[in-house]
Amino acid sequence: MKSRRGLLAAAALGAAMLLPLPVTASAQLDQSTAAAATADSQASAIYVVENTTPASRTAISRFGVDIHGTEHGTLIFAATASQAKALRNAGYQLTAQATTLDFPPADSMYHNYAEQTAELQKIVADHPSIARLTSIGKSYQGNKDLWLLKISDNVASDEAEPEVLFTCQQHAREHLTPEMCLRIANRYTDGYGSDTAITNMVNGREIWIVTSVNPDGSEYDIQTGSYRMWRKNRQPNSGSSNVGTDLNRNWGYNWGCCGGSSGSTSNDTYRGPSAFSAPETQRLRDFVQSRVVGGVQQIKTHIDWHTYSELILWPYGYTFNNTGPGLDANQERAFRTLGQQMANTNQYTPQQSSDLYITDGSIGDWMWGVHKIWSYTFEMYPRSGGGGFYPPDEVIVRETQRNDQAVALFLSYSDCVPRVIGGTC
Ligand SMILES: [Zn+2]
Repeated sequence: MKSRRGLLAAAALGAAMLLPLPVTASAQLDQSTAAAATADSQASAIYVVENTTPASRTAISRFGVDIHGTEHGTLIFAATASQAKALRNAGYQLTAQATTLDFPPADSMYHNYAEQTAELQKIVADHPSIARLTSIGKSYQGNKDLWLLKISDNVASDEAEPEVLFTCQQHAREHLTPEMCLRIANRYTDGYGSDTAITNMVNGREIWIVTSVNPDGSEYDIQTGSYRMWRKNRQPNSGSSNVGTDLNRNWGYNWGCCGGSSGSTSNDTYRGPSAFSAPETQRLRDFVQSRVVGGVQQIKTHIDWHTYSELILWPYGYTFNNTGPGLDANQERAFRTLGQQMANTNQYTPQQSSDLYITDGSIGDWMWGVHKIWSYTFEMYPRSGGGGFYPPDEVIVRETQRNDQAVALFLSYSDCVPRVIGGTC
């Protein structure tokens, strides 16, 4: 949910894999972004130059190429055909590299977009009576569906059951989050009929799962087979060479109100030119609005999954006040109480979103402020450092399993969250 520019360098240094140049990380990110926009429009390819030095890397960067990273002196960058020709004329030994659109081999257990799609299709094929896969529309680039998995008994019909929404990967580089959505999807289908709690929830709820809200960004993040620390979507910005909007600053409740997002296209928390300017937030918004049936929003609860910091957050993010318009003291107490109870199961830290810092245009504020959907944001592993956005794939099972109980508790209260403080609905 949050930009962690201050942690960027530490995160990059902490990971044992190929990452963007850690030197002046935030400046580097912006520079890469600008160059990427240029390169994208001219069909760039990926090249490597071996045995580079700080001086030669600086010289190469001045050709305007999009630097992706360096490892043991090998520099990786995207360049247009004319840039590559100019570099070769200047004496550099360029080797063209195939783009992989996949995780580094050491992290192959993570699901890229094609693998997420295949996994979702397998879940539906294995459990056709309780799982159904549709799409809420396409991402900006237009070639990827934003998959929507529904899990419920009598899955083909819209029953009068409380609806629960899980969304993952608004932020591209938060690759642990689609794994969380896939784990929920697998558990609540595989466990049906054998696990009593799971069976009860599948019978009594309609569970919606969007495994990746930002597939363009996530594919871009791994496009070269190494990580780019990419956060935003891949939508160009008019009048700027900087690409991307921070989807979790693009939601239309007090959008851009309070200094909790950036108006600069070069910033990682760029909120976009207007609320819902991003196709991805539009599609998700439209889906949520489509669940208003007979004037009543059917979706009662929502978790938006992010990394990292091990937090459970609730609205509002735009104000430091515990309560606000549409959020009274009892509702705040219900948010807090369920947040604390879930945190007791996974040892995350429960707090109001703004206790971290002010955010505006976030999904949670919109879900609650507009639809009165009890919306939490989970920031997953790690608590700090330890690979940051790129924990090794060895932790996927442990760190998604860690949230099983919280998800179960959340689902159990999804008929009426105020029940958690003795209230009624
Ligand atoms: Zn995030």
